[in-house]
Amino acid sequence: MLSFWEKQTFLNYDYIVIGSGIVGLSTAASLIETNKKAKILVLERGLFPTGASTKNAGFACFGSLTEILSDLEKMTENQVIDLVNERYNGLKRLRKRLGDKAIDYRQYGGYELISEKELPALEQLDTINDLLKSSFKGKVYELKNKKINAFGFDKESIKALVFNSFEGQIDTGKMMKSLLRYVQERGVQVLNHCEVSNFEEIENNTKVKVYVKNQLSNEKIGFSAKKLIVCTNAFTSQFFPDLDIVAGRGQVLITEPIKDLKLKGTFHFDEGYYYFRNYGKRVLLGGGRNLDFQAENTNEINTTDKIMNHLEYLLKTIILPKQEYVRIAHRWAGIMAFGAVKKPIIQFYTPNILVAVRMGGMGVAIGSQVGMQASKLILEN
Ligand SMILES: Cc1cc2nc3c(=O)[nH]c(=O)nc-3n(C[C@H](O)[C@H](O)[C@H](O)COP(=O)(O)OP(=O)(O)OC[C@H]3O[C@@H](n4cnc5c(N)ncnc54)[C@H](O)[C@@H]3O)c2cc1C
Repeated sequence: MLSFWEKQTFLNYDYIVIGSGIVGLSTAASLIETNKKAKILVLERGLFPTGASTKNAGFACFGSLTEILSDLEKMTENQVIDLVNERYNGLKRLRKRLGDKAIDYRQYGGYELISEKELPALEQLDTINDLLKSSFKGKVYELKNKKINAFGFDKESIKALVFNSFEGQIDTGKMMKSLLRYVQERGVQVLNHCEVSNFEEIENNTKVKVYVKNQLSNEKIGFSAKKLIVCTNAFTSQFFPDLDIVAGRGQVLITEPIKDLKLKGTFHFDEGYYYFRNYGKRVLLGGGRNLDFQAENTNEINTTDKIMNHLEYLLKTIILPKQEYVRIAHRWAGIMAFGAVKKPIIQFYTPNILVAVRMGGMGVAIGSQVGMQASKLILEN
């Protein structure tokens, strides 16, 4: 049973956001930056954000050479350039908002490992650099084959290395914690353990009521706002089953520190299906959805032996073949959202309810930009 004070103070807002991942928090951040007096509530079902934003690999990237070539087979040149620009602008917005120190941003650069079958992609290197020259000062991609030896990769499997100096890495945990702090310091209320069950328009469609079950009393609590923004990414079909969203699990492992670790930077491998980076003296490695797409199209947040065994195999044979003993410190999984089109969905469901979801595998890059666009749309409407 709620008190008069609780009803008066905690239930009514200008804007409610569902989901405290990078998109939900960036939307709240953009809203409060534009309107300092706005009353904003973020409702999160988990103890922490519990989808992808606290689970990812922390690549501050915008696309590898082979990914861009593959996108060009399905999209126009302008669409591909727009996508790269959105990601790069999103990263700039994130860094400007929180500061490089707070997110531990390190611009070590990124590399793509090229195997025998991908060698023809190198013939397109200049074409892709030309395509991106209006967005970046200088060439984006260049060959750095000497690094294959320097990093200690298996030379039989890796035939070339494509370097991208614009790519960096962040500490995912620090980024999310500082984004949370950023909105809370500006007066945004974030409530955890609040799983939204449903919402409805009320008072002649001038308001939205959002329902959460109070876990202590079992009663449904209704929060009201003028506008609602749904930022639940891979978990959106609970509210909008018809949207084109397919959940895709990503599994990750991280090693114990390795004394003589030589590799430094972010690395893409096998058309982007695998990715690894250094985190200090550790190696973080993830991917492998292509080993079993059917099983990995799930929103269950757990790891499987099949993928973990293969990640360990790659670690020992290709990434650290000269390392005698590598201990895995931790393994985890997170859930992404994909669709037929490689683009976020930012659209009104009703004039008071906006959906901002489907970040694919690059929400760290694109999330701040999507939050800004969602906030702009909701403020203009
Ligand atoms: C393993 C892995 C590695 C990745 N690596 C990178 C990378 O290196 N670089 C990069 O750019 N991107 C990466 N990504 C992708 C990136 O993390 C995501 O695109 C991004 O975090 C999506 O953010 P989001 O806010 O849209 O979704 P989420 O972070 O999933 O947030 C959605 C939130 O909604 C909440 N929610 C759901 N339902 C409800 C409900 N009913 N009530 C209340 N709350 C609810 C969830 O708990 C969740 O916290 C990776 C993803 C994974 C899984």
